[in-house]
Amino acid sequence: MKDNLTIESVVKRKLCTGCGTCAGVCPHDAIEMAVDRKKGCYLPRLDRNLCTQCGLCHEACPGHSVDFESFNDTLFGEVPEDIALGRYVGCYIGHANDRDVRYACASGGLVSSLLIFALEEGLIDGALVTRMRRDNPLRPEPFIARTREEILSAAGSKYCPVAAGTALHEILQMRGRFAVVGLPCHIQAIRKAERNLPKLKERIRYRIAIPCSLDYSFRGTEHILKALGLRPGDIEALQYRGRGWPGSMLIRLKDGTEQTIPLAEYYRELGPYSLRRCTLCSDMLGELSDLTCGDAWIPEVMRTDKVGSSFVVSRTPGAEELLEAAASKEVVELSELGLRELLASQGNAVFKKRKLKARMRMFRWTGRSVPAYRQRLLKPTCEDYVNTLKFYAGRYALAGNHSILGRLFRAAQSLKHRKSNDPPVQAQALGRQQ
Ligand SMILES: Cc1cc2nc3c(=O)[nH]c(=O)nc-3n(C[C@H](O)[C@H](O)[C@H](O)COP(=O)(O)OP(=O)(O)OC[C@H]3O[C@@H](n4cnc5c(N)ncnc54)[C@H](O)[C@@H]3O)c2cc1C
Ligand code: SF4
Ligand code: SF4
Ligand code: SF4
Repeated sequence: MKDNLTIESVVKRKLCTGCGTCAGVCPHDAIEMAVDRKKGCYLPRLDRNLCTQCGLCHEACPGHSVDFESFNDTLFGEVPEDIALGRYVGCYIGHANDRDVRYACASGGLVSSLLIFALEEGLIDGALVTRMRRDNPLRPEPFIARTREEILSAAGSKYCPVAAGTALHEILQMRGRFAVVGLPCHIQAIRKAERNLPKLKERIRYRIAIPCSLDYSFRGTEHILKALGLRPGDIEALQYRGRGWPGSMLIRLKDGTEQTIPLAEYYRELGPYSLRRCTLCSDMLGELSDLTCGDAWIPEVMRTDKVGSSFVVSRTPGAEELLEAAASKEVVELSELGLRELLASQGNAVFKKRKLKARMRMFRWTGRSVPAYRQRLLKPTCEDYVNTLKFYAGRYALAGNHSILGRLFRAAQSLKHRKSNDPPVQAQALGRQQ
């Protein structure tokens, strides 16, 4: 096998998204996902003694390339008109009708309630979801949920690396039909893997994407804990979201006490810890999914709704049928949502298509590798180039918290927040503790 066609080359070129799919599809268990402590993310580790060089892992890998045009063609029969959203059949706003589920989930609880519905109706035998580990509450655990309780144990967003693709191994071993839930890069990888593994394609009935503009390294969470004066060993359980909308992070300590931090406060602190590869990702809304379900960040809705609302986009007839069935049995409540309203609430999706070209070009100019995406992107403006420069300068300065540049940047940021009467989370969180 050529060296440039291995997952090791993907890692070396810093293109790995940490999705875990290479490990999940390897027929010889030759790949293990391990946390790289310095980068704070998962990377694959290859055991060359077990590898037969079959190439399955590299072909499933979304890190080096995704041919969106060919997938759109084969999956949906057309290249979508709307390049930010991708192909869609229906577009709705809604929530779970079970108020407890809705309150416990990330936004409106649509993902979890649709999974429970599909399970109870016999449409699926299990679902690939991700919960936080019991024995190490700062690490996520993708697994196949087979009961309502297990699905709910995975509710809520995890703002840390998740190697969801590792659980494909289980799907390949078991009989039955499954739903998979993941970020857009997880879904890209699954679609790529299905091309070589008909068994996988046959077993996956629904591919549910949650949107993602950026994900954050484990160092981001550790930074928040440190700002609160906590050590990883103090933590009994951690949930990033839940408890209403937009929700809050819940940290349960081993001494029996709990701390909560509203999403808006801690999210800002995660920013500098965004993963490098994520800044080169073009797909915010899970364009290759059957169904995408995200936060309905619509100002009028957010003003009155404190429990949770989601938007949901069906992209295939099967997904549309699932939504109709769940709505007709009053498991979920849905009403039509205009495309324009949806995209306005997810402004980043459009910007991403524009900014990405600027980022890609700048990476190439400096001799760095970029993923090969075959899809239409928007022409960047001069402002996009300037903003890209600012973004990376800030990101690198802030990631090195101890560097002089990092401290200067942090001071400038805190000045900016003070001017806008919007104190940075660190001060607020520490203030609460005192
Ligand atoms: C890193 C990240 C960035 C996001 N960015 C946006 C955004 O820009 N705009 C937006 O509208 N929404 C975004 N979301 C999605 C949003 O937070 C909610 O997950 C979504 O609204 C679904 O809500 P729900 O109540 O229907 O889901 P729930 O019923 O709470 O279910 C969520 C499901 O997602 C799975 N899941 C959670 N986190 C991960 C993860 N990291 N990897 C794989 N699977 C996971 C869980 O296993 C669970 O099954 C993001 C989520 C993450 C994790
Ligand atoms: S090339 Fe084949 S055997 Fe080797 S690690 Fe990849 S999937 Fe496994
Ligand atoms: S399949 Fe996923 S985890 Fe494996 S190398 Fe590619 S991007 Fe990284
Ligand atoms: S930004 Fe893209 S590459 Fe990064 S985690 Fe989200 S979907 Fe994956």
